Amino acid sequence: MIKLHDKVFKPYLSEEQILGGVKKIAAEIAKDYKDEVPIFVGVLNGAFMFVSDFLKEYQHPCQVSFVRLSSYQGLTSTGIVETLLDVPDNIEGRSIIILEDVIDTGRTLKQLVHLFSQTNAKEFKIASLFYKSEIYNGEYAIDYVGLEIPDNFIVGYGLDYNELGRNLKEVYQLNQANMINLVLFGKPGAGKGTQAGYLKEKYNLKHISTGDVFRYNIKNETELGKLAQSYMDRGDLVPDEVTINMLKDEVEKNPEAAGFIFDGFPRTAAQAEALDNFLQSKNMMVNATIALEADDDILVARLLERGKDSGRPDDQDEGKIRNRFDEYNQKTAPLRAYYEKQGKFHSVNGIGEIEEITERLSSVVEELA
Ligand code: AMP
Repeated sequence: MIKLHDKVFKPYLSEEQILGGVKKIAAEIAKDYKDEVPIFVGVLNGAFMFVSDFLKEYQHPCQVSFVRLSSYQGLTSTGIVETLLDVPDNIEGRSIIILEDVIDTGRTLKQLVHLFSQTNAKEFKIASLFYKSEIYNGEYAIDYVGLEIPDNFIVGYGLDYNELGRNLKEVYQLNQANMINLVLFGKPGAGKGTQAGYLKEKYNLKHISTGDVFRYNIKNETELGKLAQSYMDRGDLVPDEVTINMLKDEVEKNPEAAGFIFDGFPRTAAQAEALDNFLQSKNMMVNATIALEADDDILVARLLERGKDSGRPDDQDEGKIRNRFDEYNQKTAPLRAYYEKQGKFHSVNGIGEIEEITERLSSVVEELA
């Protein structure tokens, strides 16, 4: 075990396993390119060690260069990729082979492809030492892969956690043993959002409210927002596939989180199963599902009151509120049995002072540790 900043990592891939992956890629590329002089382009910073070991294995004529992209995610509004170190000169008519340390969601890859699509290279291939096939969006073919790995947060062999760990010869993975993942359960207005706000501070957790993510997307007029809006305005649930993918994205964006509070997710059996499978693939799990209980009439009054300030259309009309309760009773309430079966369901009285309720929730969380 090693510690980098505040996190503990455990050994994952040995030097030998890593070099096995490097050799595999070198042999495959040699087969395809030994009769020409390809240009290998390493992606900094993470790929420097891979590039170095790769070149020692690739003993045929070749050129080497590097690119460095800004940490900006995606393209700028003008469609221009921000680079800190640009594409090599004189690549006209040449074969370019990108050397990446790891491909996960494919966001960086999109930038790279965009960068090289504007050049007159003859050919453009992608080699990645590590490949997280489970989360890759599949937009472009990956031509050469060293090792396929599950979606764990890894450091070492060029990869960092907040700039530490790049010099490790082996690859380590985040030790998730102490992670706490909570599902906050309850009808609209039960106080999930309010309580999540306190719990996330108290236990250093990342709060994901699917309702908030949808509202953010509606405000910013994204495709996702446009899709969700009509459902939300009626007080209906947004389709599972959309919601599940969005939730996964939110978790992926926070690979270093000490734990998550899922607020407003899962709301259907399909979502609960998807969450379990997804977390399992990352060596994580739901530790507890905590339900905030309150009577419908109290909740309706609370929501109508909230609607006066929040401007949320689904809070301002008793018909829509009742429809949200119906959705809950039909689709979400059965999840109680799902989590009871796993021994993870906890019920908490959601009526009282806010601090009092936080205390009730905290005693459940503290029993988990
Ligand atoms: P909330 O802010 O949690 O009350 O959510 C507001 C609305 O967002 C809901 O009425 C649904 O239309 C949508 N929504 C939020 N979370 C989910 C989910 N897990 N599944 C489907 N729809 C959701």
